Amino acid sequence: MSVRVRFAPSPTGALHIGGVRTALYNYLFARKNGGTFILRIEDTDQNRYVPGAEQYIIEALKWTHLIPDEGVGFGGDLGPYRQSDRKEIYQKYARELVRLGHAYYAFDTPEALEGLRAGEANFTYNFRTRTGLSNSLTLSADAVQQHLDAGTPCVIRLKVEPEQAIRIEDLIRGEVVFQSNELDDKVLLKADGMPTYHLANIVDDHLMGITHVIRGEEWLPSTAHHVLLYRGFGWEDTMPKFAHLPLILKPEGNGKLSKRDGAKFGIPVFPLAWAGQTAEDSFPGFRETGFLPEATVNFLALLGWHPGGEQEIFSMDELAQAFSIEHIGKSGARFDYEKAKWFNQRYIQAADNRALATSIRPLAEAKGYRSDEEFLVRSAALMKERVTFLPDFVEQGYYLFEPVRTYDNEMIGKKWNPALQPHFEALIEHVEAQTTFEASALEESLKEFMHGRSLKAGDILPLLRLALAGTMKGPAVFDMAAVLGKTETVRRLQTALAYFLGA
Ligand code: GLU
Repeated sequence: MSVRVRFAPSPTGALHIGGVRTALYNYLFARKNGGTFILRIEDTDQNRYVPGAEQYIIEALKWTHLIPDEGVGFGGDLGPYRQSDRKEIYQKYARELVRLGHAYYAFDTPEALEGLRAGEANFTYNFRTRTGLSNSLTLSADAVQQHLDAGTPCVIRLKVEPEQAIRIEDLIRGEVVFQSNELDDKVLLKADGMPTYHLANIVDDHLMGITHVIRGEEWLPSTAHHVLLYRGFGWEDTMPKFAHLPLILKPEGNGKLSKRDGAKFGIPVFPLAWAGQTAEDSFPGFRETGFLPEATVNFLALLGWHPGGEQEIFSMDELAQAFSIEHIGKSGARFDYEKAKWFNQRYIQAADNRALATSIRPLAEAKGYRSDEEFLVRSAALMKERVTFLPDFVEQGYYLFEPVRTYDNEMIGKKWNPALQPHFEALIEHVEAQTTFEASALEESLKEFMHGRSLKAGDILPLLRLALAGTMKGPAVFDMAAVLGKTETVRRLQTALAYFLGA
């Protein structure tokens, strides 16, 4: 049977980076096994629905190149893939489960249940309490029918039988056992006709032929109910295998990484920026911070999984080749942001300069900077060893893009003296006379120039650097000149000379 896996997020806000890791592991597992990766939107909880969240999820998957084979926005034969479009299906199956004797109608009013909860702190609707409540297990068949005919508001609950051990062979955790006496009779279908997560999730996994459920550890407790649902429907033979992923921990390693940790540590914990209703609910993203999607994917893949060996840099194809659930760790994985930065540096260094230019262009344009292709390609080549994030190209490398605004006066005080004026004027002429403006040719030619005038490198090169960048920082001065080009280099030398003379 071919592998079919799904990523099933609820559109309740921005998708946390941990959700992207879940999607990634599902994707890699599908690729590795020649299977199918499905995106299902679980939006049955209308109270938690947030407009824009579904679009965000899809954009985040596209950005990280985790393209579903089937799903909302991606087609497929077993849709619809958005749960709110499947309401009737769940209603049918809920009634079917009642008919099979594994679920029942419950007519208790919300007020009645509230009263019970107020009276007993740990009140649970279960095999002990249901016998004294208003449901189709306690009422006569006629009374039930009357309620149903009259449209009395009711829910459908799962009938959990007592004294059962529910065993799950989790592919990551091994055997996990739940005792049915500890489980409540979960609501499957709400009074408004909407299913709960549990019902919709199981019905869909079944109808969509899901073979493996790979999801976050927080869903492990729900799995007991899910197994009972599979059994109740008689679907146990095709029940998917479960793999519950370890948590992602805070950068210091203590406790689960939460969305608030982004602000706390000044780091992104979402793939894309999210503009919520309030500042508190708005978050920066990996994309906007200037991570390359490939670096983000590589970082996330190794957050809780490693195939063994020394290799750390993996392309998506290599990840898919190497991936296996057996190599996912049981314990939480620390969200090591420094490591994420390291991956980004490595990916930027290895990136094609033309591809980098494409990423830099909008950043340059936003600042009103020069953005012609060749200049950007050369700037990328010059700066890629020095940056961590994409915006660093224009922020750290500002001196390539804008005329010098401030000069390092202290350095000028040390290096400039009026006796240098004729040499500097000659230097400008010499530069102007260059025919090829490549770094090495320029270096050769300027060395000859200095030699001819008995100047030492230390007399003139710091001034040349100050003229071009205003600061002593930056890449090799000849490389910088070559990227700026002759016209701009000469212009900067002239401006600097005027400044030196006035200084
Ligand atoms: N809708 C659930 C979520 O938001 C899906 C859990 C599962 O994969 O079963 O994560």
